[in-house]
Amino acid sequence: MQSTNWHRVFIGVGSNVGDRHAAFRQAKLFLANDANIQAFQTSPIYETNPVGGPPQGKFLNAVWAFQFSGTPQTLLKLLLQIEQTMGRKRTVKDGPRTIDLDILFFDDFVVAEQGLTIPHPRLHERWFVLKPLWDLAADWIHPTLKKSVCELLDECHADC
Ligand code: ADP
Ligand code: MG
Repeated sequence: MQSTNWHRVFIGVGSNVGDRHAAFRQAKLFLANDANIQAFQTSPIYETNPVGGPPQGKFLNAVWAFQFSGTPQTLLKLLLQIEQTMGRKRTVKDGPRTIDLDILFFDDFVVAEQGLTIPHPRLHERWFVLKPLWDLAADWIHPTLKKSVCELLDECHADC
């Protein structure tokens, strides 16, 4: 029997449209019930001001961590499917969203493809990502910046 290869994954979650807590619950159910996902962990949820984009409501943000059996590309497909099922429309860049699911880290993989960049290219500039990431994995090392989440959060306090 072939053994399954599990990868440690962190995703950023955001919502600023409709019942934001309900959107978090629903997205979590989709993921936690997926056969390729195990050991699901959640950070606290933070309410944050929108960064960029048009004037819009406040966000709820969190980070979720889990073990995933599959490739980064299959995980992205799953996340985009969940976003779509939950009624996310991509109209305005950085605009309001029912649910946003971004891959932050996938083991220590570095991916730079059309449509998929890992680590997420802006994660180190965003307090609303770094703080919940720190709650779950302060010592995790960013594979290209070679700094821990804790160091990145320290550096971010001044200007993000
Ligand atoms: P953002 O999250 O940057 O505000 P979107 O959620 O609208 O923007 O995502 C736009 C596209 O970003 C997605 O269709 C996806 O192909 C691409 N993308 C690139 N890298 C990632 C990543 N690490 N996680 C999620 N989506 C990504
Ligand atoms: Mg996204």
